[in-house]
Amino acid sequence: MKRQYHIEMTREALGDHFSERALQVIIKANINQDRLAGMFFHDEFHFDNNAFDKGYRYMNEQRGYILATFMGTGVSPVVAWEAFGRLLHSAQDFYAHSNYVTLWLDSQTASHSAPEIEPMKKDILQSPKLCSGKVYFPMDMLYFIKPIRPLVMKLLPKDSHGWMNLDSPEQGFKFDYAIRAAVKRTQYEFNLLQTLLRPEMLVKFTDK
Ligand SMILES: [Zn+2]
Repeated sequence: MKRQYHIEMTREALGDHFSERALQVIIKANINQDRLAGMFFHDEFHFDNNAFDKGYRYMNEQRGYILATFMGTGVSPVVAWEAFGRLLHSAQDFYAHSNYVTLWLDSQTASHSAPEIEPMKKDILQSPKLCSGKVYFPMDMLYFIKPIRPLVMKLLPKDSHGWMNLDSPEQGFKFDYAIRAAVKRTQYEFNLLQTLLRPEMLVKFTDK
């Protein structure tokens, strides 16, 4: 997703829970995952190329760093905030780079429809139909050069990042679903940490 949306979603989900300085570190680490060196060959950062296992493992690792930070003595909470920012980047990109939103919309029928997108539906997360955009070189790199994008799109297969991403509103109505799901997932990740951290650790983590 574009930088501005990572920032907005993180603020919306966590603004009330963290101090401003903690939030700033979390956001900086989140958007830093989209630096040039992190854009390619790091499928786990963005859930590209069907790297679901790799992505989940990466998120678990970051969660582990957060817990380890507060187990040790005298370790700065900045380390935990940075790990949380990296974790959230993957969590948020999951909805923009996979077909989760499409599968969720397909699961909605007249007799069974939820008022809002549910970000953690087990049957979708475990569905063999769940996939994410493949990165085709060099075409998916050229995708980011806007003037030649129409030409690049003609050459890219339909299962590419270029065709599948929900990174910005230009991608159509499914973008809004991706945003809603990602905000809820961000809240879910914070709730999970609230259950894992002891109260005195949580105070240090939220810096409030
Ligand atoms: Zn990303």
